[in-house]
Amino acid sequence: MTDQMPRDTIFALSSGALPSGIAVVRLSGPATRTVIRKMAGTLPPPRQAQLRDIKSGEGNQLDRGLVLFFPGPASFTGEDCGELHLHGGRAVVTAVLEALGAFPGLRMAEAGEFTRRAFLNGKIDLPGAEALSDLIAAETEAQRRFALANTTEAHRKLYDKWRQQLIRARALIEAELDFADESDVPGSVADTVWPEVAALRDVITAHAATYRDAEIIRDGFQVVIIGAPNAGKSTLLNALARREVAIVTDEPGTTRDVLEVALDIGGMKVVLADTAGIREAEGRVEAIGIERSLERARKADLVLLLEDMAAPHPVEIPGGAQAIRIGTKSDLVPPGSRPQDYDCVISAHTGEGLDRLLGLLREASEGFSSCIGNVLPFRARHVALLNEAAAELGFALERENDGLELRAENLRRAGQALAQILGEIDVEHLLDEIFSTFCVGK
Ligand code: GDP
Repeated sequence: MTDQMPRDTIFALSSGALPSGIAVVRLSGPATRTVIRKMAGTLPPPRQAQLRDIKSGEGNQLDRGLVLFFPGPASFTGEDCGELHLHGGRAVVTAVLEALGAFPGLRMAEAGEFTRRAFLNGKIDLPGAEALSDLIAAETEAQRRFALANTTEAHRKLYDKWRQQLIRARALIEAELDFADESDVPGSVADTVWPEVAALRDVITAHAATYRDAEIIRDGFQVVIIGAPNAGKSTLLNALARREVAIVTDEPGTTRDVLEVALDIGGMKVVLADTAGIREAEGRVEAIGIERSLERARKADLVLLLEDMAAPHPVEIPGGAQAIRIGTKSDLVPPGSRPQDYDCVISAHTGEGLDRLLGLLREASEGFSSCIGNVLPFRARHVALLNEAAAELGFALERENDGLELRAENLRRAGQALAQILGEIDVEHLLDEIFSTFCVGK
């Protein structure tokens, strides 16, 4: 954390779109006390909301609302912070923001700057900041619960435990190096240290592999709809989404690219992708579309394989992905003359079977929400550093013929990678990217 502590005072509208019942304007920085005194008469007692006339620096009344003061360091950012709870009218908020901007040393906050200051002041670690960003972005119940669980410093506790193990291992190696010259040499550390390092490497590798579960909870359970042209893919997608997202047409081959719709099924985000019809491609563009469909289906968590029961056109499931076979257009085929081997029979026109299909989607995806209680890496950044840590431990284990100093250096680097996940070292270059994804005012 070598970033210089910011000295200027920032402010921003922290609540949502205007007009609204109440709008919250937040301040953080050393001028907060002076500004609140000037705008609200006196400083309210710490953390107590007081109803005040809110005035500009020149003394013009702008609104009447609640004013709060949070003295640092026991505040969200660690600095003096303030909140003005205004009437959520556009003109009210504009007047208050203009009045704040007119004070010397005050400026509008950048995206995520309050949270960035909280991080720089050691109030939260980097996974904690990332989890806050996820919590604000959360749209489904599973996303909300997962993001909230990740704000609890569970990652810090786990990674600190591993770092302690590595520090202990290095201390034992140091001790062996110190004793090496003496006649009374204790037993080799190899017997105790290396099996522990090997076990830790396996634990870290297994932990990194759980990222897929986190991705499914955060970004959605990926379902790809495939089938021959005219099997009813776009129509099904539309029926499920209950809105027009794909063009439905009689002309085969028009769904050339991948269209997506995200559904909330039992609290899980489920992303359904409609793909180009799979058959002999007639044009280059369509061939690319089909290749993309197959590629996507291979990576999907689940494939919905659609077959028009009125004009069956069997399609193979690509790459052995988990699949649900669905017979479509049941309104055109009487029950007695339907093929038997479908998991589900539907009509997007009459709605027959759609509830059963939604039930199957729910069954396939809901298991992932049980992972929410586990500590999972939840950013590609975390996984890359976990893999780096595991690789360093692997190097240390392999270099049996190298000196202990060199092998200890690998252990140190593994610890550094874990520290980087928590944001303790070497993260300056990442901060702009991480915090720019936040809203202004957070
Ligand atoms: P896609 O090429 O697989 O995306 O197929 P579409 O969704 O574009 O559907 C092809 C044609 O089948 C359209 O004319 C749809 O109206 C029709 N269709 C789709 N689903 C049903 C259904 O459940 N019943 C009937 N009767 N027609 C359907």
